[in-house]
Amino acid sequence: MTSNLGPSIITLITLFISLTPTLIKSDEGIDVFLPISLNLTVLTDPFSISAASHDFGNITDENPGAVLCPSSTTEVARLLRFANGGFSYNGGSTGPSPTFKVAARGQGHSLRGQASAPGGVVVNMACLAKAAKPAAVVISADGTYADVAAGTMWVDVLKAAGERGVSPVSWTDYLYLSIGGTLSNAGIGGQTFRHGPQISNVHELDVITGKGEMMTCSPKLNPELFYGVLGGLGQFGIITRARIALDHAPTRVKWSRILYSDFSSFKRDQERLISMTNDLGVDFLEGQLMMSNGFVDTSFFPLSDQTRVASLVNDHRIIYVLEVAKYYDRTTLPIIDQVIDMLTRTLGFAPGFMFVQDVPYFDFLNRVRNEEDKLRSLGLWEVPHPWLNIFVPGSRIIDFHDGVINGLLLNQTSTTGVTLFYPTNRNKWNNRMSTMTPDEDVFYVIGFLQSAGGSQNWQELENLNDKVIQFCENSGIKIKEYLMHYTRKEDWVKHFGPKWDDFLRKKIMFDPKRLLSPGQDIFN
Ligand code: FAD
Repeated sequence: MTSNLGPSIITLITLFISLTPTLIKSDEGIDVFLPISLNLTVLTDPFSISAASHDFGNITDENPGAVLCPSSTTEVARLLRFANGGFSYNGGSTGPSPTFKVAARGQGHSLRGQASAPGGVVVNMACLAKAAKPAAVVISADGTYADVAAGTMWVDVLKAAGERGVSPVSWTDYLYLSIGGTLSNAGIGGQTFRHGPQISNVHELDVITGKGEMMTCSPKLNPELFYGVLGGLGQFGIITRARIALDHAPTRVKWSRILYSDFSSFKRDQERLISMTNDLGVDFLEGQLMMSNGFVDTSFFPLSDQTRVASLVNDHRIIYVLEVAKYYDRTTLPIIDQVIDMLTRTLGFAPGFMFVQDVPYFDFLNRVRNEEDKLRSLGLWEVPHPWLNIFVPGSRIIDFHDGVINGLLLNQTSTTGVTLFYPTNRNKWNNRMSTMTPDEDVFYVIGFLQSAGGSQNWQELENLNDKVIQFCENSGIKIKEYLMHYTRKEDWVKHFGPKWDDFLRKKIMFDPKRLLSPGQDIFN
């Protein structure tokens, strides 16, 4: 999270800090001074250190030695060149300085300290976005792309593009994540089946490699770096600018939640709808589970229907919620209801259980913000989040459903949080990028988004995650984890499979001293 201190206090702290050399820890645990002559805007006050030490997961706590709040990309490049130990001064003594770790931090919405740099330097990318000239988001003259400072949040891209009547096409469910943070993972959501993940919708990047070199890359220019960095978990360089594809922005959305009591109908309809990637199909598709052993959130539905929705869940123990959206604007207004009717007429949902809201495009994309506000007001946002996100091959989703959802989840005395369950198309992903997916045309995105609160501790919830992974392993279901955190090298090698050698080769090429994003625990 970024600092809430007023600008004048920050200026004073910065001034004070800039007059004293900053002490951080080298890879070998030796004290290293960041010399004043490096002219870096570093913060070491307890508030800045504490803010950079934890993340949304609320499970890990790793103090950096300092936080860099850069006002230019050259500051980041200078830091990285010094971190490589190439300078001839070391806190007053001669000889090359020891190396130390550096991690870019976007919004710190990682789950297990992935954006941390224990003892080293965390680079607050929001500072760079604030200092971006002429602006953090610059829309091209023809409105086909935006050049965006990587520390910018997606919500701000949406706002800036919206003023020009254009919009990115691929979104995460939550918009208060940074461009650099989601591009380092994949950036997936309900538009992925149609447009691919966010990493499939980038034309060009500016990156400062682990060696401190500033490089521009694209599918044609330095493609190894371009494809490596997309989904690269921050391992090869710090993204400072991304050129994001834009398209015409709709103004409104018909947003539906459609309830199923029968899994095979739910699966069949989800897969049929994602196979329609032309203009006639839905623009957004996700799905989630409502279970009688969890909190049944009926707030989406009209007040008059909430009781019967809750009864449906109680009667069946589990209800599958198909969530789809169709965008429209003034030109398509006359036909939108017919289109929705055509798309939903043949679906096999529980009769009478289709609900539609008509909302502005911005409100639809920003829908999770309301959930955040609700949870914050209940003190349930800043709690541990032992989330498990996995991609399950489409050919095994019935086995997965029977074993994990019926066998494990429904047999728990209680469940917490949201369970996401929806398919997507692999042909919208580019296998040259670093993110790993199952090797099948259709795979499912499953998210167990659990929150520990009250008497429940996160380790208990983590047991469920372990059981899910164990079940998949025992049943030979070849899942890929997303937003994962492994601590053993063999798990990373297994995760990357045939791409591991290439991943390692790129690490040696772009970050040979293994300085970047140590919180991912891949090369420590
Ligand atoms: P951080 O946590 O700050 O960083 C993540 C990693 O990226 C770290 O390793 C960091 O070092 C690296 N990094 C950050 N910035 C840069 C950069 N500029 N250059 C290079 N490396 C960098 N994900 C989805 O795909 N779809 C969703 O729908 C979705 N919903 C979410 C909802 C919530 C409420 C939360 C908390 C997370 C969600 N996520 C989702 C996960 C999210 O995409 C990742 O956690 C993402 O990393 C968060 O972005 P961030 O800016 O907070 O990254």
